[in-house]
Amino acid sequence: MNEKADVPVLIAGAGPTGLTLACELARRKIDCRIVDRADRLFAGSRAKGLQPRTLEVFDDLGVIDAVLAQGAPFPAFRLYSGSEVRWTRTVTDLLGIRPVASGTGVPYPGTWLLPQWRTDRILHDRFVELGGRVDLGTEVTGFSQDDDGVTVTLVGDGGAEQVRAGYLVGADGGRSLVRKTLGVGFEGETFESERTLIGDVRADGLEGDHCHILTSGGDLTRRFSLWSMPGTDLYQFVASVDAGSVPELTLESVRKLLEERSGRTDIVLRDLNWISLYRINVRMVDRYRVGRVFLAGDAAHVHSSASGQGLNTSVQDAYNLGWKLAGVLSGAPEALLDTYEAERLPVAADVLGVSTRLHRGNFRSPSGDERGGEPDIFQLRLNYHAGPLADQGRATPSGLRAGDRAPDAWCQDTTGRRVRLFDLFRGVHFTLLILGAGGIPTDAGSAERYGPSVHVHLIRRPGEAAGADAVVDHSGQVDRLYGFDATAGLLVLVRPDGYLGIVTERPEQVDDYLRQVTAVLQKGRAE
Ligand SMILES: Cc1cc2nc3c(=O)[nH]c(=O)nc-3n(C[C@H](O)[C@H](O)[C@H](O)COP(=O)(O)OP(=O)(O)OC[C@H]3O[C@@H](n4cnc5c(N)ncnc54)[C@H](O)[C@@H]3O)c2cc1C
Repeated sequence: MNEKADVPVLIAGAGPTGLTLACELARRKIDCRIVDRADRLFAGSRAKGLQPRTLEVFDDLGVIDAVLAQGAPFPAFRLYSGSEVRWTRTVTDLLGIRPVASGTGVPYPGTWLLPQWRTDRILHDRFVELGGRVDLGTEVTGFSQDDDGVTVTLVGDGGAEQVRAGYLVGADGGRSLVRKTLGVGFEGETFESERTLIGDVRADGLEGDHCHILTSGGDLTRRFSLWSMPGTDLYQFVASVDAGSVPELTLESVRKLLEERSGRTDIVLRDLNWISLYRINVRMVDRYRVGRVFLAGDAAHVHSSASGQGLNTSVQDAYNLGWKLAGVLSGAPEALLDTYEAERLPVAADVLGVSTRLHRGNFRSPSGDERGGEPDIFQLRLNYHAGPLADQGRATPSGLRAGDRAPDAWCQDTTGRRVRLFDLFRGVHFTLLILGAGGIPTDAGSAERYGPSVHVHLIRRPGEAAGADAVVDHSGQVDRLYGFDATAGLLVLVRPDGYLGIVTERPEQVDDYLRQVTAVLQKGRAE
């Protein structure tokens, strides 16, 4: 075995979780090594629905143009009984939930269809653009940790090697070796009586871009679904089958199943590109962190794919962990890393509950909780109110408070150029919005005070005196979404992952908060 140089972070697994985290670290100039035991990136379409919050993350990461160019709006579901079309419904109609209204601070209001192999490739290419490289064909086979680091054994074509890493992140999927080696529990249930057959094929005989739900008599429990994949002539097929009558994983068996379920012989499947049969597990960890080792994505939670939450939740894990890990490696207090589990574990528990209810309801939203309690499949209402970073400050006049997602809004700079709040948030920094002038000392958030890790913007009403660096709320959107008391003034600190850190009138509270989560304002540290 040959000793390798130390690396601050080693990531096991180059799926969407590992790749998102790798991008997050790379753009903060944190050196990381990401390995995957597979010889190539994942080739199947499986997680195909990107939720609005994930699109916002991808906007921040600099991949939104590629995601939009290569995908399409989530198609409508079309139920067939034989050849007859019974109905066509949008995903929100089908689930009985409200669509996201436009103009509410959400730049990407709908679910976006993109096969997972494309998402993985886009994230991979971004990581490479940021100077990184994925070590494919390299498996983590074991590790041990002490107070100073983690010694990880990697096995690849060239044999075994040991790497000393500051931190190890297990983004190695549902069967995570990292999780098992830590001995962290993965409690929950397995749906033993059913299996899901999924794969990618070409299909002749279908018209239109839909999720074609094929049945013989309209019975949704015996459906065979075919989803058109944007920009390709491929379809993803999905069918739930009884555990006792599992088909062979061949094109012939898939064709037979389609005919059995729909009675149709005019739809011809060919070119089986990828196929998988899986058992639905609904499980999650009881810890996201053991010492210097973290779990993220499917390594920490698995559940039904109903309502398409898995990849999205996994990306959000990485997005939450990335800035914290980079922060601590750059001098922020180590306790920041504990907030990862505190914020993300309750989210996983909710997702397990929602996806299981939707799975059992065969698309129907749980009727009991009606409108107010409808599932947040878009992940826009998800918040960290109960987490350790949201216990101070006050709410904005509109009711937003620490732990809420910071909404987007259109503004203008003082030259009249349109600018979005998300343009101000985009990047690796914190953003301090000073809403209104009154009461806030003018040097409350000056660039000199906090350094480059905090960008400061004064938000003014049209006609108010404003410096050259101010942003004008010309359309009143900031006022509507955040609330805006021009006489009192308010400081709103937005975290690098787009959640409100603190809302306060008192600059010293902003300082206290920043001391908790960044390297700035630490005693004895020159910025
Ligand atoms: C049928 C199906 C449909 C789905 N549909 C959706 C959907 O519509 N929307 C949605 O959000 N989610 C969906 N999901 C879930 C989604 O695919 C996963 O949540 C997502 O892939 C998790 O990403 P990950 O990076 O955590 O894990 P993975 O994508 O599983 O990646 C883990 C990686 O780790 C590597 N690895 C494993 N062990 C090791 C090791 N020891 N050393 C090195 N590398 C290792 C693997 O090769 C793999 O590349 C679906 C899942 C399935 C099965």
